[in-house]
Amino acid sequence: MKRIAVLGATGSIGASALDVIARHPGRFRASVLGANARVDDLIALCRIHRPDHAVIARDEHYVTLRDALATAGLATQAHAGPEALAALAAGPDCDTVIAAIVGAAGMASTLAAARTGKHLLLANKESVVLAGDLLMRACREHGARVIPIDSEHNAIFQCLHGQAADLDRVAKLILTASGGPFLNRSRAELSEVTAEQACNHPNWKMGRKISVDSATLMNKGLEVIEAHWLFGMPAARIDVLVHPQSIVHSMVEFGDGSTLAQMGRPDMRTTLACGLAWPERVDSGVAPPDLGQIGALSFQPPDRATFACLDLAYDALAAGGTAGATLNAANEVAVASFLDGRIGFLDIPAVIAGTLDACGSQPADSLDTLLAADATARRHATGCVERRTGAHA
Ligand code: NAD
Ligand code: MG
Repeated sequence: MKRIAVLGATGSIGASALDVIARHPGRFRASVLGANARVDDLIALCRIHRPDHAVIARDEHYVTLRDALATAGLATQAHAGPEALAALAAGPDCDTVIAAIVGAAGMASTLAAARTGKHLLLANKESVVLAGDLLMRACREHGARVIPIDSEHNAIFQCLHGQAADLDRVAKLILTASGGPFLNRSRAELSEVTAEQACNHPNWKMGRKISVDSATLMNKGLEVIEAHWLFGMPAARIDVLVHPQSIVHSMVEFGDGSTLAQMGRPDMRTTLACGLAWPERVDSGVAPPDLGQIGALSFQPPDRATFACLDLAYDALAAGGTAGATLNAANEVAVASFLDGRIGFLDIPAVIAGTLDACGSQPADSLDTLLAADATARRHATGCVERRTGAHA
């Protein structure tokens, strides 16, 4: 029986993970559930999945959680705070950790799981962008097996049969991008788009932050950096192709002219089932795509001038050091500000570019250096947002 910690249990990936886990009661068990602030949702999940531990990141909800678990007659122990979250990820009550917290907030628990050699099902791409080198080193040193849960990286993982991307054999990784809700829009058409429109993804139902990232193409930029660290591929050998149907989840080009692709419906339960059962296969609740009915799969290059975030990510990867941390932090601030209505959609790349220019790149020799770069970038980006808020209002 695999005992699984689902960190980010109340989110979109968390829901998909718990759906797959619940389909296989003899095989998988959610032993730890973690969430940020939605304590009522966490309590409801505890009633269904009966984990050993439930942890809420915001301390102020501890008493509510503890009392509700007791009232429901559950043996689930209540915990609160980010330290408890990381301690449970590292602790003896799980052997697999699904890192599905959104943002750099997932860094500490992801790293804690890596450092204790857990089976790491990694959805929290921001921690890879922030500290990919350090995180992958921790996984190697402590024998933590990483299975990517981002659908593109999971596709590549499957095309490589779970092996490392041998640079003599693998010519290129091709990440597919849906193009998001604003595919084929001009820059002028993007100036007035709203948060609701940006979150209305044509193919995927996801949390609000990653939905905006998909609309700006920063999601693909973060994924290029993620692919670099997960598979040890140089940026020059990572390409992006827009594929509006979201059926081909990514591809690997080999030196002999073969290209392997993984296909599936846009439903993260497939990715999660793959990660949970690998190298076996289990039911995910998702049917294979009906290609006869879909009819045509199309591909086109991304519009890099209109969707400037993609190249900002390539630039940060080329700059190296702390630039990934800066890019990620500036993006988190910019996206949160856009979702709150303080800046416009086109201000997002402007805030990130301004922050990257102001912060430059230093060697990233420790987690402390990276976290300091993250904090500095957040301050700069917040300043950029404040200067732009007037213009937007
Ligand atoms: P979401 O907003 O739906 O859920 C986020 C989860 O993180 C929630 O459970 C929330 O409680 C938790 N959380 C947020 N801040 C926290 C904090 N400070 N401490 C502890 N927990 C915190 O987001 P999502 O769409 O499920 O995405 C989660 C992660 O997976 C992101 O990194 C995203 O990029 C990645 N991802 C998501 C999808 C998808 O289809 N949703 C696909 C690929 C990758
Ligand atoms: Mg993805």
